Amino acid sequence: MARYTGPSCRLCRRENIELFLKGERCYTDKCAIKRRNYPPGQHGQGRPKVSNYGIQLREKQKVRRIYGVLEKQFRGYFEEADRMRGVTGENLLSLLERRLDNVVYRLGFASSRTEARILVRHNHFTLNGRKANIPSIQLKAGDVVELKEKSRKIACISESLDAVVRRGIPQWLELDKDSFKGVVKLLPAREDIAMPIQEQLIVELYSK
Ligand code: SF4
Repeated sequence: MARYTGPSCRLCRRENIELFLKGERCYTDKCAIKRRNYPPGQHGQGRPKVSNYGIQLREKQKVRRIYGVLEKQFRGYFEEADRMRGVTGENLLSLLERRLDNVVYRLGFASSRTEARILVRHNHFTLNGRKANIPSIQLKAGDVVELKEKSRKIACISESLDAVVRRGIPQWLELDKDSFKGVVKLLPAREDIAMPIQEQLIVELYSK
């Protein structure tokens, strides 16, 4: 499947924001955007003014990159969000937040969404006691994500769980560290998503 395999930091520099794609490194001085805060490429330091379309496009790309979703999937999420009741932009963010890989990351089992996606694909988790190895599964209130017994000694997972205090767990989720279980208490609301996202720009882009 087509997936971006280039340097993650380049994506942050392109969107001019920390997207937190590389786990712990993102919180250190090694973060590329702290050292080279301008877009990548030959003309990175001298870009012309961006059009309205360009601003909307960049916002869409930014969100797509935060959640590691391909264009076609992202369009699918938008169409679903549009069919749902309520505000389309908020529905879109809620659908993205409720992906299994995102929940694994938010609960602190992984240091980035990319790592979470790999762990899910490699069958380290169960959902409501059943096998769950599809990162895009949509979670609902009451769902329980559990790290399998055999995976509890994996070093990167323990390190992530120790470091999650700094990142914090959103209030719509609850983690029981001792039993390696997380529960979706509620569906995520707009205020639970702290990243600076202007979802209205994405709605405008797709409504053209
Ligand atoms: Fe982005 Fe993390 Fe790289 Fe910083 S270290 S530029 S936040 S991926």
